[in-house]
Amino acid sequence: MTDAPPTPRLPAVERLLGHPDLAVAIRDHGRSLVTEAVRAVVAEARERGEGGEPDALAAAALRQVGRWLSPSLRPVFNLTGTVLHTNLGRALLPPEAAEAVAAVMTRASNLEFDLATGRRGERDGHAEALIARLTGAEAATVVNNNAAAVLLVLNALALRREVPVSRGELVEIGGSFRVPDVMARAGSRLREVGTTNRTHLRDYEEAIGPRTGLVMRVHPSNYEIRGFTAAADDAALGALCRARGLPFVVDLGSGSLIDLSGYGLPREATVAETLRHADLVLFSGDKLLGGVQCGIVAGRRDLVARVRRNPLKRALRVDKMTLAALEAVLRLYLQPEHLTTRLPTLRLLTRPADEIRAQAERLGPPVAAALGGRGTVAVEACRSQIGSGALPVETVPSAALVLRPPSGRPGSWPARAAAALRALPVPVIGRVGDGAVRLDLRTLDDEDGFLGQWSRLAL
Ligand SMILES: *Cc1c(COP(=O)(O)O)cnc(C)c1O
Repeated sequence: MTDAPPTPRLPAVERLLGHPDLAVAIRDHGRSLVTEAVRAVVAEARERGEGGEPDALAAAALRQVGRWLSPSLRPVFNLTGTVLHTNLGRALLPPEAAEAVAAVMTRASNLEFDLATGRRGERDGHAEALIARLTGAEAATVVNNNAAAVLLVLNALALRREVPVSRGELVEIGGSFRVPDVMARAGSRLREVGTTNRTHLRDYEEAIGPRTGLVMRVHPSNYEIRGFTAAADDAALGALCRARGLPFVVDLGSGSLIDLSGYGLPREATVAETLRHADLVLFSGDKLLGGVQCGIVAGRRDLVARVRRNPLKRALRVDKMTLAALEAVLRLYLQPEHLTTRLPTLRLLTRPADEIRAQAERLGPPVAAALGGRGTVAVEACRSQIGSGALPVETVPSAALVLRPPSGRPGSWPARAAAALRALPVPVIGRVGDGAVRLDLRTLDDEDGFLGQWSRLAL
């Protein structure tokens, strides 16, 4: 007969709570949270059949408290080469917007209060005049995002009515926004028009009838149809809709307020240009506009009023922080000469390739030194995408740090290197492919913060 193994002895929770290392945590975070953490680490130790050194258990409890209190949503370095990356938060706001948000979030504000009359005011009023000025629209309203704008406009103007849309525009934007599905949820009936590659004005003429509620054009956003193609132009569609007394609505998706070709970027029709023929234009606040997540409905005053009266508007409206940020960003557009320096999205999109290359040459040696023998670094030309369904097939020249395994045989090295980069205090997100990890530096602002953490890379 052998002796049973001795049961490991664990200190009691109460006694551990008296450990000097936990005193500061109890003072800062309160006794209940620290007690919970101590219980959790003691229970874990018991499960593993381990005894417990009070020092080690106290340290584990402190780490647990730290994990519970650290935010899940946090900053990262987006070096993917996609400037407006939906999964990484899209547009970066300028400091003016952050200040405007901070000002209204901790204090009362005139969100729906008219300071001149002392009566109830209009939430949309803060951004409406600016949007009107920048787009030529008569009126505008703001909702949670552009998907909400599409849903709301269809529900308000085409409930139980038909909406002709070209078969070439029945797109899926990603994140489950599909034009036919949104239409169904809005209570509108999709009337498919034309073919995938060619849709003519006469296709719309034939589709329009007594049950039509409005005509909609959707920006294809993330793909392009090339070759033998045809589409009815906005001027002709607008004229047709006017003749039939129907609203002509354009879902622009990204929607730029300025002509980007003036900044050396690919050309897109602006919101103002689109509004010359459309009655309503819908666009995102955090794509090319470079602002905050929201959807803007701009155009004819009577139609915007109908949209605003729809009960869904109440469910889809934006909060004061969004309005504060949007207003601050729109104000930057009043000073177009300063846009490329003050609006982060435009600044990043217009960074010259040679400047990015110089940055890569500068950062290459310290990164190589930090990697030691664990990998190699090369500076290579690459192309950045605009992203978020803006100018889908266009790219702009850039430069990347390309990390490769020391052996030259990739195997699982790129995936491991990418994981190690993601595990840094401020995670670095690059692109894995061709046996390498590529870090496109177009979107790297904080060089010191980036370099400062390479010593902690666990690869
Ligand atoms: C991006 C996009 C949407 C959705 O906009 P969100 O602001 O992401 O909700 C809708 N329509 C088109 C054409 C788009 O490109």
